[in-house]
Amino acid sequence: MKIPFLDLKLVNDATKSEMTAAFNRVMESGWYIQGKELEAFESEFSDYCKTDFCIGVGTGLDALHLLLVAYGIGPGDEVLVPSNTFIATWLAVTRTGATPIATEPDPDTYNISVQSIEAAITPSTAAIIPVHLYGQPADMDTINAVAEKHKLIVIEDAAQSQGALYRNRPAGSLGHAAATSFYPGKNLGALGDGGAILTNDKAIAKKVRELRNYGSLIKYQHDSLGYNSRLDEMQAAFLRIKLKVLSRANENRRQIARRYTEGLSDSDVIVPFVPEWAIPAWHLYVIRSNQRDELQAHLKANGIETLVHYPIPPHQQKCYSNDMNRSLPIAERLSAEILSLPISPSMPMEHVDYVVEKIRAFKR
Ligand SMILES: *Cc1c(COP(=O)(O)O)cnc(C)c1O
Repeated sequence: MKIPFLDLKLVNDATKSEMTAAFNRVMESGWYIQGKELEAFESEFSDYCKTDFCIGVGTGLDALHLLLVAYGIGPGDEVLVPSNTFIATWLAVTRTGATPIATEPDPDTYNISVQSIEAAITPSTAAIIPVHLYGQPADMDTINAVAEKHKLIVIEDAAQSQGALYRNRPAGSLGHAAATSFYPGKNLGALGDGGAILTNDKAIAKKVRELRNYGSLIKYQHDSLGYNSRLDEMQAAFLRIKLKVLSRANENRRQIARRYTEGLSDSDVIVPFVPEWAIPAWHLYVIRSNQRDELQAHLKANGIETLVHYPIPPHQQKCYSNDMNRSLPIAERLSAEILSLPISPSMPMEHVDYVVEKIRAFKR
């Protein structure tokens, strides 16, 4: 049996005829940037996430960056970020001239821990970016309480958590603002790059709208030194269709996750821990093994493709060589033990069972 990590063609085949019709509609409209599709998608996605505003932008990285700029964060500021996130969370901070400060995760949930946040706060701390890693919501009430005490901005990195719930509230609606990504492999994936900002803050929403479009809200009138980062009409039209099936797609992911957890909880690997207040979006299903590389090779030999999210933590990347000597033992240990199993809305249950069987057959 051949089991790919994620078969995006199969995922998108489920909505192929609607997406083809959307392509034709946008093509024929003759209007490709900042039009009706974007406006409709922004309204539909902010409804879904229960926020007042949604602003579509070019990528998830840009969504994070534009938010930081909108909040006035820049040189001299420190921004707390997880030590075990995708590098975009750090890059967005660095791009503003502020300094990303790595904070270690809770070793059970892999999400940013409140203790490490509190220990990292200095007079220069301006913001926290909790990441709902792998689609599991971070403990936002606790994080927000610390942030309020120290007057810090909380920006959720919701790139992996479209449709996740924290105490029945949607990821993306839980901080001052949120950034998300529509990279094709995300739970809500476009057919190209895309991202968005979610917030209830009217002034921030307006600022981001301006920043994404050359610092301009009125054509050829430029109030700030802006950027060009827009979600185009084609991607917005595709995303409107994908949004309609997002809840169903996430339900499939939850069933797969449940099956993995049932099949593996008494095995040699560690399965994800889910707090009782969390309904994850299961962007990834990540297990741990102290023989990760051997297990991955064993699965590969059986036709099963797995990935590691992420094999090198940001502080050990060449581009962050100033941080290289820092010791972040939890992130380092996780990066050596984690393994992401195949998961997608279109993955058949027989494939899940096969992966479980092969993991259980792995001899140490
Ligand atoms: C994908 C991702 C991003 C960046 O999104 P892009 O659209 O690829 O720029 C940021 N943070 C996390 C946690 C991600 O997974």
